[in-house]
Amino acid sequence: MLLIEIPRIPPEGLDLDESLQTGEVHLEGDDELVLESGRLRCHLEIVDGTTVHVDGHLAGDLKVECGRCLEPYPVPVDQRLDLFYLPRLTNRPEEEEEEVELSDHEVVVGYYEDERLDLGEVVREQIFLALPLKRLCRADCKGICPTCGHNRNTEACDCPPPEEPRDPRLEPLRKLIGPDRH
Ligand SMILES: [Zn+2]
Ligand SMILES: [Zn+2]
Repeated sequence: MLLIEIPRIPPEGLDLDESLQTGEVHLEGDDELVLESGRLRCHLEIVDGTTVHVDGHLAGDLKVECGRCLEPYPVPVDQRLDLFYLPRLTNRPEEEEEEVELSDHEVVVGYYEDERLDLGEVVREQIFLALPLKRLCRADCKGICPTCGHNRNTEACDCPPPEEPRDPRLEPLRKLIGPDRH
C-alpha cells in the first residue's frame, strides 16, 4: 500500500518494502514509459511534528521509448531517497512554498495533502528524475527513415536524404540569416 496515512506513522517510524506496479506509481497513461518491475524500500518518520522524512532506496527496471527510433529500451533505476514532505497549506500560494527551508536540513522537496502521502507519486517523480533528458536507445541511434519509415538501426535503406521542405513565408528570414544556414 503506497498511500500512507500520516497519523498512522508511529513515533519510531514505519518500514516499507513494496514491489511496485505501473498503476500504483501513476505511469499507466504513459505510452513512452513502462515500469517492468520496481521495489521501494524505505523508512518513513515524522520529524518536526508534521514533516515526513522518506529515507530509503528505489530500484527498478523501466522500458523507455527511444526518442529517435521509437523502440523501447531498458533503463535501470537505482535511486537513493532522502526526501522531506511538508503539509500543504491550502491558503498559501505555490510560489511561496518553493522558498520554504527547514532549519536543520536542506530544502523541502515536496508537500502532502489531507494527512496523506502518496508514495506512488513520490516514486513517479523519482523515476522522472532518474531518466536521462535525451531518451535514446544508444548514443548513435540512427532513428527512423523519414522517407520509407524503416528503423535504420536494423535495416539500411537507399532513400536519398529528404529535401528540406521550404516554407515560402520563411524566405525573408532565410535571407537575413544567410545562405549557409537553415
Ligand atoms: Zn533508438
Ligand atoms: Zn528509407
